[in-house]
Amino acid sequence: MSRASAEINLSAIATNLKFIKSQTNAQVLAVVKADAYGHGLIDVGHQAVTAGADWLGTALLEEGIRLRKSGISIPILSWLTPLGEDFKTAIDLEIDLSISSVELLCEIVLAGKAINKTPRVHIELDTGMSRGGVGDEWLNFLPVLTQSVIAKEINLIGVWSHFARADEPSEKMNQDQLVEFDKRVKDLKKNGINFEYCHIANSAASLKNSDSHKNIIRWGIGLYGLSPDVNNLGSSKDLGLMPAMKLKAKLHLVKSVKKGAGVGYGSTAVTKSDTKLGVVAMGYADGIPRNANHAAGVFVAGNRAPIIGRVSMDQFVVDLGAASTAQTGSEVIVFGDGNSGEYTVDEWAKASGSINYEIVTRIGPRVPRIYSRE
Ligand SMILES: *Cc1c(COP(=O)(O)O)cnc(C)c1O
Repeated sequence: MSRASAEINLSAIATNLKFIKSQTNAQVLAVVKADAYGHGLIDVGHQAVTAGADWLGTALLEEGIRLRKSGISIPILSWLTPLGEDFKTAIDLEIDLSISSVELLCEIVLAGKAINKTPRVHIELDTGMSRGGVGDEWLNFLPVLTQSVIAKEINLIGVWSHFARADEPSEKMNQDQLVEFDKRVKDLKKNGINFEYCHIANSAASLKNSDSHKNIIRWGIGLYGLSPDVNNLGSSKDLGLMPAMKLKAKLHLVKSVKKGAGVGYGSTAVTKSDTKLGVVAMGYADGIPRNANHAAGVFVAGNRAPIIGRVSMDQFVVDLGAASTAQTGSEVIVFGDGNSGEYTVDEWAKASGSINYEIVTRIGPRVPRIYSRE
């Protein structure tokens, strides 16, 4: 094994995809943005398709293009495309584009005309999150859109929106967003604008709000076996999901220290007794959160060893305990599914004041991804 690696269990990806397919009548769009939440765009994308995904989705167009060029033939939607992107290539490769402004609509129409091919388009509606999507400009947007549809300048495939609070299923805002969504869909149909797909559900809504499924659900964090919200919705285990990433590293050094030794930058932690310390050859340059505290750590030689002191750029120190049999060169599990006693992604998230999404997505490019099927 190298210094550090992230083992990606592709069987878990397949299991998590098949699980949600069994829970819905909607098509499933596997969200593989941000390098498949750090799990690897191409390998995960192909595994999701093999397991039955109907769509793939990315934020960035460049990821959509990479997927298509890697031989993916199912529909791909890329939804975060500022003005000036390479829309001609996107249209040529039949990548569905999302539009939330008149400016973007005009630019995509022009790109389509330039290559004599009709762009496939989804309109994003802001139904209350105040992030992407057409919001209060709706009444200005509608006539421009109508004109483009009538003139067959675009092929309107779908209309979509995004929940702000899907991880709090009993919040009234979810219902309000659905009502607003349905109202705008009606508006469109009233104007004679037809399209096949409506989608609004992310993982949390896919799991907890079947009224929101429409005819596509966007399955993101759940695909990777992680819970959209550990506190409100329960853990991976509670939800029947299999975490797909196991992060491993090696102990660069094991050493004995006396009680009272300050550890790491700032000596923010001091040993409480004579103990053995292990230096793990990973740091914040690899995506280990700098502010993770002793509530996280590694699993080594059959035991948990908590972090002691601050995480550095390329290394962090764990307290192995005086009786540990760990040695220089021992392999450690930084996080995994927890089944062998190792820390979970959720524990690392909690220890650093973050969420599981951020922990896996930030595992850096210098950590090789190793694919397995367990
Ligand atoms: C990231 C994202 C998703 C997936 O969200 P999860 O909570 O990971 O399921 C769905 N839709 C859009 C637009 C997104 O950006």
